[in-house]
Amino acid sequence: MPLFFQEAAVMNDSIAGMITQATYFAASVLFILGLKSLTRPDSARRGMQQAAVGMLLAVIGTLLNQHILTYQWILIGLVVGAAAGWPMAMKIEMTAMPQFIAFSHAFGAIAATLVGVVEYRELGRTGELTHGLAGALGFEVLFGALTVTGSFMAFGKLQELITGRPITFKGQNFFNVALIGVAFLSFAWLIYQPDAQWAFYTVVGLALFLGISMVLPIGGGDMPVVISLLNSYAGLAAAATGFAIGNNVLIIAGALEGAGGFILSVIMSKAMNRSFGNVIFGAFGAPPAAAGAKGPAKEPKSISAEDAATQLAYASSVVVIPGYGMAVAQAQHVCRELADLIEANGGAVKYAIHPVAGRMPGHLNVILAEAGIDYGALMTDVDDANRVLKDADIAIVVGGNDIVNPDAENEKSSPLYGMPIFRPWTAKVTYVIKRGKGVGFSGVENPLFTLDTTRMIYGDAKGALGTLVKEIKALSEGH
Ligand code: NAP
Repeated sequence: MPLFFQEAAVMNDSIAGMITQATYFAASVLFILGLKSLTRPDSARRGMQQAAVGMLLAVIGTLLNQHILTYQWILIGLVVGAAAGWPMAMKIEMTAMPQFIAFSHAFGAIAATLVGVVEYRELGRTGELTHGLAGALGFEVLFGALTVTGSFMAFGKLQELITGRPITFKGQNFFNVALIGVAFLSFAWLIYQPDAQWAFYTVVGLALFLGISMVLPIGGGDMPVVISLLNSYAGLAAAATGFAIGNNVLIIAGALEGAGGFILSVIMSKAMNRSFGNVIFGAFGAPPAAAGAKGPAKEPKSISAEDAATQLAYASSVVVIPGYGMAVAQAQHVCRELADLIEANGGAVKYAIHPVAGRMPGHLNVILAEAGIDYGALMTDVDDANRVLKDADIAIVVGGNDIVNPDAENEKSSPLYGMPIFRPWTAKVTYVIKRGKGVGFSGVENPLFTLDTTRMIYGDAKGALGTLVKEIKALSEGH
C-alpha cells in the first residue's frame, strides 16, 4: 500500500479510536447521572433514560472499533437479542420483575464468562498471557460463572420451577466454604502460573457449581437480596473483562454495577434487620420451628364494606400502608380513587411505604407512582410514618403483612424480630384488606389481625377497594 494510504488508514484508526473513547466517556457520565437520578422517585424515569442513552453510546462506540473483522455475527446477535428481550420486557408483570432480572443477569454473565474463556485461549495461543491478565480473566470467569448458575437458580425459585424453600443438608456451609477455598486456591495458582489450563477450567467449573450450591439454601423470599448480590458479581466480572480486554467503559460500568448491587443488598438486608451473613447462610424461609403453646388462637374481627366506607368518608386523617398484595392485585389505581374521595370529603391521605414492602426495592413506590399518586403524600421513613400513624383516624393495610407485624417488636423468637415496622395499631382503628388468612413472605402469623382495634376486610385488594369506592360514592350521593 502506498505510504499516503497507509498514513491515512492510521489516521482513520486514531480518529475512530478518539471517537470511541469520547463516546465511552459520555456513556460513563450518563451512567453516573442515571444512578444519581434513580435515587429519587420523581427523577427515576429520567435516570433510566440517561442510563439507556449511555448504553446506546457505549454500543455505538464499541461498533466503531477498527479491530472488528465482520459485523455479521454482531448483527445476528443484535436481532436475536432484541427479538427475545423486547417482548419479554414489554409483557412482564411488575410482580415477576425479580425473576426477570435474574434471568437477564444470567445472560449477561454467560457473555462475560464466554469472553473470559475465549480471551484466555486467545492470549494463551499468542503467548501474551501475563500474570496480571490471567488474574483478571480468572476473576472474570469466577464471578461470571457463579452468576450464571446462581441467577438461573434464583429465577427457578422465584418462578416456582423449583421449591422456593431453602434446600439444606448437614455440613452445607462447611461444604460451600471448602468449595470457595478450592476455587480461590486454583485462582491463585492461575495467577502464579498463567498457562495452567487446569487451574483456569477448575475455577470455571467450581464457580458454576458454587452458583447452584450457594443459592440452594436460600429461601425464595430472600431472592431479591441474592439477585442484587449476583448483580454485584456480574458487575465485578464485567469490570474484570474491561481490564482483560482494555475497555474503559466496561471497567467503569462494571465497577458501578458491582458497588451498586452490593450496597443495595446491604440496604435490603438492613431493612429486614438481617445480617448479610444471615441472608446468605441463614436458610431463612425454612418452615418455622414449632412455636410454643400460646393458648387458643384469637379470631380476627371483620367489618362490612358499608361500615368501613362510612368511617372512611368522615375520617379526617387516613394512612394507607400498601404491601405485596397491592402489587399482586394491581390495586393502585382504585386505591388512588379511594384517596381522592376521602380528600374530596375533607380528609387527608398519606401513604406509608416500607423499604421492603413488596418483593423488590421501591416496588410500592413504583406502583403508586404509576397511579399518579403525589410523591409528597408518600412517607418512606418508618419513624416518620409511625409518628403520623399515632394521630391518624384510620390506618388501612392493603395486602401487607410482615411490614406491620407487631412481633417484630415484641417477640424475640420471631424471624422478623428487630425489623423496623409500621405501627398501624396506634391509629384509632386499623383496617386490613387481604384475601384470607394467608401468611406473608416470612411465613409467620401476625397478631395485628386479632387486636381489638383491627377490622379485617376480606377480599382481593382491587375488589375490596373498589367496593369501598362504590359505597363512599353511594353515601355522597345520599343513597
Ligand atoms: P407480605 O408479608 O408478603 O404479605 C403480603 C400479604 O398480601 C399476604 O399475607 C397475602 O395474604 C396478601 N395478599 C396477597 N395477594 C393479595 C391480593 N390479591 N389481594 C389482597 N391481599 C393479598 O408482604 P409485605 O407486608 O409487603 O412484606 C414484604 C415481605 O417481603 C417482607 O417480609 C420483606 O422482608 C420481604 N422481602 C422484600 C423485599 C423487597 O425488596 N421489597 C426483598 C426480599 C424480601 P392473603 O393470602 O390472605 O391474601
